[in-house]
Amino acid sequence: MDMDLTLAPDAPIFDAEAFRLTPLEAALTARARDFGQRVLAPRAARWDREAIFPSENYVDMHKEGFLGVCIPKEDGGEGADFRAYCLTAAEMGRYCGATALTWNMHVCSTLWTGALSDDLEMEAPIRAQHLARRKLHYRRILDEGAVYSQPFSEGGAAAAGAVAFGTTAKRVEGGFIVNGKKIFASLAGHADYYGVLATEDRGEKLSRRDTLYIAIPAKAPGVSVVGDWDPLGMRGTVSRTLLFKDVFVPEDAALMPDGLYFQAASRWPHMFMTLSPTYMGLAQAAYDFTVKYLRGEYPGMPPVKRRMYPTKQIAVAQMKIMLEQTKALWFQAITDARPDPSKEQVMRAWAAQYTVMENANALAALAVRTCGGQSMLKSLPLERIYRDSRCGSLMLPWTAELCVDRLGRDCLYEKGEKDE
Ligand SMILES: Cc1cc2nc3c(=O)[nH]c(=O)nc-3n(C[C@H](O)[C@H](O)[C@H](O)COP(=O)(O)OP(=O)(O)OC[C@H]3O[C@@H](n4cnc5c(N)ncnc54)[C@H](O)[C@@H]3O)c2cc1C
Repeated sequence: MDMDLTLAPDAPIFDAEAFRLTPLEAALTARARDFGQRVLAPRAARWDREAIFPSENYVDMHKEGFLGVCIPKEDGGEGADFRAYCLTAAEMGRYCGATALTWNMHVCSTLWTGALSDDLEMEAPIRAQHLARRKLHYRRILDEGAVYSQPFSEGGAAAAGAVAFGTTAKRVEGGFIVNGKKIFASLAGHADYYGVLATEDRGEKLSRRDTLYIAIPAKAPGVSVVGDWDPLGMRGTVSRTLLFKDVFVPEDAALMPDGLYFQAASRWPHMFMTLSPTYMGLAQAAYDFTVKYLRGEYPGMPPVKRRMYPTKQIAVAQMKIMLEQTKALWFQAITDARPDPSKEQVMRAWAAQYTVMENANALAALAVRTCGGQSMLKSLPLERIYRDSRCGSLMLPWTAELCVDRLGRDCLYEKGEKDE
């Protein structure tokens, strides 16, 4: 049963005037905040407790226009660009981490094929074909509420961008034959299409340049979902293993033309930041919880105030400082996002990704310590926020470790520099 959390509307994470949001950003973030508070928050405990996919949320997200948030306006969507999406997704993450994270996988199938692709180079006939093909995907999403996922992890070095994906697509008459395995495939068994990254098998050594991005229908013969999903946090993402055995897909299943994914990964690196908005929202949620709880205003809890203790005030001050630092850096990084960013901008994106992922969990840990024993009971959302937020820095390709590795190297080396 849904939990009743009738609350006064929350203040925005990024105030539209103070952060000079565009009218579209202001409108979308307000809608997401309202939706999150009204629809996502009351249901969030259930997906977590039972480790089940939030299907009901997707039905409602379709009704309220969120599945098409990044579909270009001319194709019938909301037309959000990268920054507008990130800001909107942060508001979603504040209320249900698993829904925001899985929604991200879905949205990427429209953002990468939409606003991002529009920034990339394509010969005119290829672009015309791409525009026609993406319409097919967009219509399924807008008209039928189709949900896409984004399985790229394989358990090897490919998801970190180090080698070519081992999942292969062989060109045959009229389409491709796909073979391979994806682990941690969020929405497994629940998405209508799996947006798979595969390497074209040309009969020679697999190359990252030949990465294809293909929408495989969940019901296609040869697709199966195996294993279970019983993790620490983000339990509603249902990120089980996907197997593809001689799966045939027609040519128009290609979400991007040949070579375009490789171009995007090289020229639009901020595309790998899209997992961070969920965790920006969770960071805000940990802080919001603490303030309400210490003021004795958390719904359903006895109105006991704890705010008068200096140690609690110091802890909340620390949380606020950490939250504002996180917001400021992240906001600048999502504002930097563009094709061919400078080295400084890419380094800032890694620093922002690291900061959001690590600080979301640090804030949640501080919140538990400060609020005390009752705050970590399963009847309250804080312990879920704590567990969900632990997952952020593990997510490839920009894990906290890889961000540190890359930053350390790029701070000390210019392109082409080597030691004796
Ligand atoms: C809740 C959740 C949902 C997810 N959903 C999806 C999804 O929908 N689609 C998807 O594709 N993936 C998804 N992932 C998967 C995620 O991106 C990782 O692939 C997953 O966490 C498995 O990582 P691993 O343990 O196999 O990492 P490993 O490859 O074993 O790496 C372990 C750690 O070593 C470091 N490392 C890895 N490679 C290198 C390298 N080349 N150099 C230096 N250090 C390295 C990284 O810090 C990494 O965290 C999800 C993960 C989580 C936690």
